[in-house]
Amino acid sequence: MEGCIFCRIAAKEVQSKIAYEDEEVVAFHDINPQAPVHVLIVPRKHIPTLNDAGEEDQALLGKMMLVAQKLAKELGVADSGYRLVLNTNRGAGQSIFHIHLHLLGGRLFHWPPG
Ligand code: AMP
Ligand code: ZN
Repeated sequence: MEGCIFCRIAAKEVQSKIAYEDEEVVAFHDINPQAPVHVLIVPRKHIPTLNDAGEEDQALLGKMMLVAQKLAKELGVADSGYRLVLNTNRGAGQSIFHIHLHLLGGRLFHWPPG
C-alpha cells in the first residue's frame, strides 16, 4: 500500500536490517529496540490490523509464528525465552498500521506487560 512504511521496507524502498525474507514474509530488526533481540515479522501483504485478517490469511498468520520460532533459534533466545507481541489498534500501542509480530528476547520480561 502506497505510503505504508512496512510495505516500503518489504519492497526495499526503505532500508532496514533484514533478518529473514521469503515470498510472503519479511523480518527486520526494530529501529528502536526494546530488548537485545527485537525483530519485526511482517507479511508482504498489507493487512492494517489483526481485525482485518480473514480466513484466507490463516496460513500466512501461522507462518509468521513459525518464522518467529526460527529466528528465535537463530538469534539464540529460543531456550532462554522470548515474547511475541502483536499490538492491535492504538489502545494496545499499535503505531504502524501494517500487521507485524514483535519478537523480543535477550532479557527478562515481566507479567503483566505494561
Ligand atoms: P507497534 O507500536 O506495535 O505498531 O510497533 C511498531 C514498531 O515499528 C516500533 O517498535 C518501531 O520502533 C518500529 N519501527 C518504526 N519504523 C521502523 C523502521 N523504519 N524500521 C524498523 N522498525 C521500525
Ligand atoms: Zn503496508
